[in-house]
Amino acid sequence: MRPMINEATITTNGVVRPTHVEVNLDCLSANYQAIKAHVSPARVMAILKANAYGHGLVAVARHLVAAGADYLGVAYLEEGILLREQGIDAPILVLGGILGNQVPLFLDYDLTLTASSLEKLEQIQTAARARGAVARVHLKIDTGMERIGVHYYNARSLLEASLGCDHCFVEGIYSHFANADAADLNSARIQLQRFLDVLTFYEERGLQPPMRHIANSGGILQLPESHLDMVRAGILLYGVYPSDDVPRTVPVQPALSWKSLVVYFKVVQPGDPVSYGSTWAPEEMSRVVTIPVGYGDGYFRNLSNNASVLIRERRYPVVGRVCMDQTMVSIGWETAYNGDEVVLLGKQGEEEITAADIARWAGTIPYEVLTNINTRVPRLYISGEG
Ligand SMILES: *Cc1c(COP(=O)(O)O)cnc(C)c1O
Repeated sequence: MRPMINEATITTNGVVRPTHVEVNLDCLSANYQAIKAHVSPARVMAILKANAYGHGLVAVARHLVAAGADYLGVAYLEEGILLREQGIDAPILVLGGILGNQVPLFLDYDLTLTASSLEKLEQIQTAARARGAVARVHLKIDTGMERIGVHYYNARSLLEASLGCDHCFVEGIYSHFANADAADLNSARIQLQRFLDVLTFYEERGLQPPMRHIANSGGILQLPESHLDMVRAGILLYGVYPSDDVPRTVPVQPALSWKSLVVYFKVVQPGDPVSYGSTWAPEEMSRVVTIPVGYGDGYFRNLSNNASVLIRERRYPVVGRVCMDQTMVSIGWETAYNGDEVVLLGKQGEEEITAADIARWAGTIPYEVLTNINTRVPRLYISGEG
């Protein structure tokens, strides 16, 4: 494995910060292929919002486009523009809600718009007509999420209007599941049925429907009938399962590891408390090491007295409060040295800490663990092909 260091990973004098994220690019493309094989002939949209779930937007996009990704999906216009400015020319759907004054930028950057109401569709048509352009559009149907999208019971007028939009290329139509990662699939099945009912609009008119998509990672894993023409793979692409309730029908591996180094070692006397608020003190003389990572990097403060890290292939507890930039770990009376590798998330020897472990400790979900690792933490991209 040859580490590839990009400009964002370099700090002063070319020295990489001891705390960094490693993203295994081979693993990402293997996950993409595994999903593709599972849903074929449906296409796979790679969801890259929120800095590619913390993995680094541009590097992940480049790699997945080279690996043959059919379509890219982001949440915000700004994410799409950044990808275009970095030379990514694959089709990009912006999933979020839009404002009328953003439409010209979508056209400038050839980004696909989500039309989630009649009014939005009209704004798109008007802006595209004004410059003699054709906007690429996916219609958004709300089948039960109550977020953006026209309600399934009011969708026909949007579909009808879309047929008359001569400055829109209606390439797709989609909806989004609220509960596809749950053990109980009733709600997801109802949403899927509502979506299919809306789509009969096209059948009734003898029209080929636009590209139909509704499945997120939960749908990919446990609702094959929801794969339709395309799936939208987010967390699964990164090798993480959306919940503990889903069957693991697609084999994927986590692509991201979060590592640091021991930067300080001390012996703490019994009863002497460690860190802010004095929430922990050893009962016996203990060796305590300091790791240069904290909640200012996205290592949740909720992990105080609550998480483990790996050092020398063993698991040790985080003790005392996690600080903004530093975290203390008790190694009992065992041995560790300055410069030893610390794994916050990922594997070391036989041991592994997963995003789901950290989520459980911090009282959140793996999605937030990954997206919370902020841009202060350099990303290193590794690939076996180097
Ligand atoms: C985030 C998102 C996805 C991906 O969800 P995962 O659960 O990560 O697979 C798909 N579709 C939409 C509209 C989203 O916002």
